[in-house]
Amino acid sequence: MRLHVTLAAGLLILPTLAHADTLGDIAKAMGADKVKTIEYSGAGNLYAVGQPETPTAAWPRFGLPEYKLTINYGTGSMIQDTVVTFGDQPARGGGRPPSNGREQRVSGISGDTGWNVQGPNANPSRGTAGLKHALWLSPHGVVKAALAAKSPVTMRSVGGKRFKTVSFGSKGAFQATAWFDKNNLLRGVDSIVANPVYGDMPVRTVYSDYKTFDGVKFPTKIKAMSAGYPSLDVTISAVTVNAAADIKVPENMRRGGGGRVAMQKAADGVWFIAGGSHNSLAIEMKDHVLLVEAPLGDGRVKAVLKEVRKTIPGKPIRTVLNTHLHFDHSGGLRAAASEGITIATFKDNVKFLQAAYAGKDTLSPDAYAKSGKKAKFISLGDKHVFTDGSRTVEMHRLVGNYHNNGLYVIYLPKEKILSVADAYSARAILKEPAKRVGQATKNLWDNITRLNLDVETVLPIHGSKVGFDQLKMASGQQP
Ligand SMILES: [Zn+2]
Repeated sequence: MRLHVTLAAGLLILPTLAHADTLGDIAKAMGADKVKTIEYSGAGNLYAVGQPETPTAAWPRFGLPEYKLTINYGTGSMIQDTVVTFGDQPARGGGRPPSNGREQRVSGISGDTGWNVQGPNANPSRGTAGLKHALWLSPHGVVKAALAAKSPVTMRSVGGKRFKTVSFGSKGAFQATAWFDKNNLLRGVDSIVANPVYGDMPVRTVYSDYKTFDGVKFPTKIKAMSAGYPSLDVTISAVTVNAAADIKVPENMRRGGGGRVAMQKAADGVWFIAGGSHNSLAIEMKDHVLLVEAPLGDGRVKAVLKEVRKTIPGKPIRTVLNTHLHFDHSGGLRAAASEGITIATFKDNVKFLQAAYAGKDTLSPDAYAKSGKKAKFISLGDKHVFTDGSRTVEMHRLVGNYHNNGLYVIYLPKEKILSVADAYSARAILKEPAKRVGQATKNLWDNITRLNLDVETVLPIHGSKVGFDQLKMASGQQP
């Protein structure tokens, strides 16, 4: 009897011994207890999240010859300083190409304020979830976040091996579970991060090839997959512990939110909605309104819808015309769907969006998640015509465009207006035909010629209203 009790007690103790290591032991092994600030740098590849050529294609790769994170764990702040170069050529998919093929891109976060630096200006970042995720998924950030969350250490099996796991998160931004090997080194993190298309987007980050720098352990390989696609892949070559990291929110940062909504009349009943990074259009039909583009997310689209209703009272906004799937252009479709507005998008996108919208959105539930509505779609082929007898609005697919396989222009034949996203952006006024023309713009021109579109005015999704001569010159044509 006594023996039996001892054995039973021993059996009970065994699993306890197996995870006797506490978070304190993990912190010691990783050297996290010594780290107040850290700077680490390397090089690798960056992938443009949500910018594929087709709904199921991998996200486009860019070169990342310089990658440096400076983190102050005490103040919860981080600067991400990168140099981005062209990736695979010709580029397929979206993502902002680096100007002149090589561009420095800096972003930062301090507490709940995130920003991006472009030239001398700092702009508020669209959301801080990704930046918070990057900060706290840094190798020592994981340990510090788990310590702050007072996470218990539990065991789990990954690929047949037993690992110690801890959990932590940041309200409204992400939730994460990290696992450590028998030497108490961080091996991976499974997380969900708030995303305007997916709601909760799953991310797996893997850490390997540990070396000792400044007396602390640091993985020299960090790879991440987001929603099942590669999103980051870096090799770390230098780590400095406790370097100066006095990170401050830039003084000249503009305020966030939905941004300015500037309604500009482009023709009778046709409004160009500018004022932000992405424009929209409102087109008045007999008894309803068509909206072109629901970009970014709830903030922008709610502000746009409000202005449209004020400008065109008494007519419901029935349909939103989506130029293409890239997340910055489709991130506000959920907000439109939450108000019962039907989404017109390329047929291949419908299944993708239905699956994405069926996912959970628990981290930072948006208007769609809260509405309980189910998005309605118009599935587009190469051409779709909206008409009520008095006005005609055509959507044409830019067949063969590498930017995205479901990229549409919106054409108003009577008004001779063309709206175009990304294949042409009116950011600079040209005085002569462009000498180098990318595939996306060249293909736009070929499609305009093929479809024989008679255009006078271009209302681009990026940039300001211009005459057709500008698009012609950007395409390398004589105006
Ligand atoms: Zn795009």
